[in-house]
Amino acid sequence: MLCDHDSNGIVHMELPVSSPFHPPQRTLMGPGPSDVSPRVLAASARPTIGHLDPLFVGLMDDVKRLLQFAFQTKNELTIPLSAPGSAGMEAAFVNLLEPGDKAIVCQNGVFGGRMKENVERCGCTAVMVQDRWGDPVDPEKVAEAISAHPDAKVLAFVHSETSTGVRSDARLLCGMAQSAGMLSIVDAVTSLAGIELPVDDWGADVVYSGTQKCLSSLPGISPITFSPAAVEVIATRRHKVQSWFLDMNLIMGYWGEGAKRAYHHTAPVNAVYALHESLLMLEEEGLGASFTRHRNNHLKLVEGLSRLGLDLAVSEPWRLPQLNAVVIPEGKDDAKIRRRLLEDFNLEVGAGLGELAGRQWRIGLMGSSSNQVNISRCLTAFESVLAS
Ligand SMILES: *Cc1c(COP(=O)(O)O)cnc(C)c1O
Repeated sequence: MLCDHDSNGIVHMELPVSSPFHPPQRTLMGPGPSDVSPRVLAASARPTIGHLDPLFVGLMDDVKRLLQFAFQTKNELTIPLSAPGSAGMEAAFVNLLEPGDKAIVCQNGVFGGRMKENVERCGCTAVMVQDRWGDPVDPEKVAEAISAHPDAKVLAFVHSETSTGVRSDARLLCGMAQSAGMLSIVDAVTSLAGIELPVDDWGADVVYSGTQKCLSSLPGISPITFSPAAVEVIATRRHKVQSWFLDMNLIMGYWGEGAKRAYHHTAPVNAVYALHESLLMLEEEGLGASFTRHRNNHLKLVEGLSRLGLDLAVSEPWRLPQLNAVVIPEGKDDAKIRRRLLEDFNLEVGAGLGELAGRQWRIGLMGSSSNQVNISRCLTAFESVLAS
């Protein structure tokens, strides 16, 4: 790189010339982000106002109300964290656990492994309940872990394992935690707005999600909800939460009910506009209608895939309608096919994660991406690429 000083002493460097970025219009049918509708994109382009502006504070209240609706909960502490789904996961663990605590963690895919990491980084012990990737969490193994470790504080599991396309029985698992006097942590990043997620009905304690999956909003925000029991545990901790940014005791001063709305961090104002708009769209459609749409489109996709000779990897009762794990046929080049789908058809589908890499594709039908046009586009693209 050449450097020059001009007569004012300002350094001039020869840099490549940059220009505005104009991405193509892709069809997003991977594990997230999903297609963001023009209506949500337009909301995000409205004028930025201050994160403590009274009008923004009013919007915050409405976002909280709409999140309570989406999570089907009366939990007062139901807010959007200013960071992606992974931060929701981290917030759940760092706030509930204190050094020396024990947590039972169910793993049947990639994200359960991240839960283990979080537990250990809190200075706690993770008791692992392992299931084959592609199977749901086995409640019998969980019952054994609970009776072997009645002193565990938390039972954590992933409701919708996006890495495998598997749903687990959250109602049963939350009930088991409750009976054992443990708090439940539920990863619902891919669940929210796509399949049933009745937080209060399940008696779940901490449930977190993301905005870029079935809500089809901008990536980068994590809706999260805490039961009164979880709030009590957080308020009476002996140690400070190890993360300053994710300490709910501090965040409540900004997002909390009747709080002074004191400055904690600058909320991603325009991303909150987008989230609000996507929640309004969900309310207009209705939760039940959204679940039905996801289910029906899943069935149409599966039918079309089977006509192409493509099978799903997960047994029928545990399939996620919003994330379809497809077995890659013998002799087909995974990376080459996904590259052609992207380059020739502007279609993004997901690769297999972890031990499923090269063995499965993950076709998402999340939120705005779950529609008939996308299904047809996807089937046409696969038919053409597989034939060549
Ligand atoms: C996507 C996802 C996450 C992580 O969310 P990010 O927004 O990518 O941080 C966590 N858990 C599950 C089940 C997911 O699908």
